[in-house]
Amino acid sequence: MKNPFENALNQIRRAADVTDVKADVISILSHPMREVRVSIPLKRDDGSLEMIEGFRVQHNNWRGPFKGGIRYHQDVDIHEVKALATWMTFKTAIAGIPMGGGKGGVTFNPKEYSQAEIERVTRAWVRAMDGVIGPTVDVPAPDVNTRPQEMVWIADEFGNPAVTTGKPIEAGGSEGRGEATAQGGYYVLDELFEDLSLEPEMKTVAIQGFGNAGRTFARIATRHEWKVIAVSDSRGAVYNPEGLDVEALERHKDETRSVVGFEGAQEMTNEAILELECGLLAPAALENVITQENAPRIQAKVVLELANGPTTPEADDILFEKGIHVVPDVLANAGGVTVSYFEWEQNMKDEKWTAPDVDAKLKTAMADAARQTWDRAREYKTDLRRGAFALALERLSEAQPEL
Ligand code: GLU
Repeated sequence: MKNPFENALNQIRRAADVTDVKADVISILSHPMREVRVSIPLKRDDGSLEMIEGFRVQHNNWRGPFKGGIRYHQDVDIHEVKALATWMTFKTAIAGIPMGGGKGGVTFNPKEYSQAEIERVTRAWVRAMDGVIGPTVDVPAPDVNTRPQEMVWIADEFGNPAVTTGKPIEAGGSEGRGEATAQGGYYVLDELFEDLSLEPEMKTVAIQGFGNAGRTFARIATRHEWKVIAVSDSRGAVYNPEGLDVEALERHKDETRSVVGFEGAQEMTNEAILELECGLLAPAALENVITQENAPRIQAKVVLELANGPTTPEADDILFEKGIHVVPDVLANAGGVTVSYFEWEQNMKDEKWTAPDVDAKLKTAMADAARQTWDRAREYKTDLRRGAFALALERLSEAQPEL
């Protein structure tokens, strides 16, 4: 598997090639400011001890405190966390919020641990990050396999709700945060619908990944007359060309923990779902799923990256050649961190914003980011990823402190 940090560096260089950003800025942004690795001793429920590895990478804070989620997954390693932290720096700049980029991770599969064990791991990670995270320094949030519940434990262990975002509303969370990643993706799609040469009769979508982002996007898309024709999770994929009943599918997923076995759908492989003929393909799981190997077979008109890093740079070139627009992660999934910033602002000012208020601010931020990205891509005659990175590089350059 290709090292995702290499991909992130490659993406920065490719944007640097089409813009006139200073070489110093590129050099600095090619290195995370700080990488922290910790060992977490976990007492299992059966009394045995297990040592687990944890990370926090602080990529850049020129525009504001480091910001980004914490991921629990058995494949988490330093290269992945560095890549994810780097993408956060670009994402917050593109979203136009005064935050930087960071990311955390713990190398374990929470699905194999009890809630009490997950709580102990989470609290131990916070203690291990003493002096590293904090409301004005570095603010974690949910990511793959971390939920509002983990954010409650983080806030409680640290002793201040503003240290993290993505909390449940009753624990200081914001209206709209749970749906924000998918909702933001939808607003980007809506803003660029015609530019992307989508037509009303092409409103079919395949979604790879049925976690928070994927399933919420399925729900929102259905509300806007999109037909969700296929979805997958780590166990397999289901397909119905007539459109899946998303509400029933969500119930099935909650009951059985997978989309597999859903009635009224054909089973399909996780590879095949990426190659379906559809208007929109939304990768919403992990990195490196669209590669030079399968990119030639992709038939979607548009790829909307709800996941971080799903498309490799080589695949980007192939899709661009084929005329398939890729709406990059740093734009497409920036709604999550945008509402995280709103949550943080409400916590810092001791305010509570209404759901319509948060939604209106999210919509404006995403439409604006989408339009500016589109304009940069046109200006530099390039793809949307370079356009988005170019926009971020402009904004980051403006914020660069004197050396
Ligand atoms: N984990 C999400 C992301 O990759 C959200 C980060 C946040 O809200 O800080 O953008």
